[in-house]
Amino acid sequence: MDKILKVNDLSVSFDTYGGEVKAVRGVTFELKEKETLAIVGESGSGKSVTAQSLMRLVPMPPGKFTGGSIEFNGENIVEKSEKQMESIRGKDISMIFQDPMTSLNPTMTVGKQIAEGLIKHQNMSKKEAYHRGVELLKLVGIPNPEARIKQYPHQFSGGMRQRAMIAIALACNPKVLIADEPTTALDVTIQAQILDLMRELQDKTGTAIILITHDLGVVANAAHRVAVMYGGKIVETGTVDEIFYNPKHPYTWGLLGSMPKLDGGSEELQAIPGSPPDLADPPKGCPFATRCPYAMKVCEDHMPQYTEVSASQKNACWLLDQRAPKVDIPDTAIVGGTKVHG
Ligand code: SF4
Repeated sequence: MDKILKVNDLSVSFDTYGGEVKAVRGVTFELKEKETLAIVGESGSGKSVTAQSLMRLVPMPPGKFTGGSIEFNGENIVEKSEKQMESIRGKDISMIFQDPMTSLNPTMTVGKQIAEGLIKHQNMSKKEAYHRGVELLKLVGIPNPEARIKQYPHQFSGGMRQRAMIAIALACNPKVLIADEPTTALDVTIQAQILDLMRELQDKTGTAIILITHDLGVVANAAHRVAVMYGGKIVETGTVDEIFYNPKHPYTWGLLGSMPKLDGGSEELQAIPGSPPDLADPPKGCPFATRCPYAMKVCEDHMPQYTEVSASQKNACWLLDQRAPKVDIPDTAIVGGTKVHG
């Protein structure tokens, strides 16, 4: 599969009264056609800023790019003007958000909101855009789309609003869809339906998806690959199977330990004690060192480099250094009962 997006050593900061907050610190990843990459991490890990940067939605100032590039269609998004971005947003790269009410316009019918992009980017007439809108609402599973297209967002349920937002985001057949916590505000049943819908639509349209979430549980059936972010950095990346069945980073172990077990096992959920680092004054060593039960002296002083665990799995942790003590994956992080040695 071809790579359609290549993020290379991207850094994004914010100027604040408390100093420069380095929200994203040298993030590198690729996205291939038709794949879903999940970017997972706690709040403040830099995952949403990374996602917003891809569409240049980070307000600048106070935000600023401090290094790296975002290659899309052979061009660097970081260097685009605001005007150039207008023709990319919604057409080539689209985004759906956690709360459709904040991104849908309450004063416009859903139909008008779908038609806007089609008229602007696809040169459709109003009539053509209306017909395409009905098709799109049908595609995302909204019953009676001919009537629904004339309604306002407040006349839709939460799940239907999210479906309508997906219809708007997919209207122009974008190459990349960024979904920022798309199911967090929904109840569990609707969550599963929306994730199923995204997968179905990906099969039909081939759109590549970046799924931003704090919840590893959401990732299991929804993504092909996972990038785990912490303290503005990607600390581990791999296929879904590698991250769930052979995780190597203590932070990933912590995230897995804080997931409800599928077998309903009796083990209690393990929240990761402590709080994320202050990115106005980031640590010079591993960002997880203050919370990591396995931290060594070297972790505090030196940033771990990436080690290739396999062709698809990479990890930034000193435990993978040959001189480090051997540490087993804790029982709380074991998914499916198979213990793989760390
Ligand atoms: Fe823990 Fe050290 Fe690995 Fe960081 S580098 S996760 S502190 S063992």
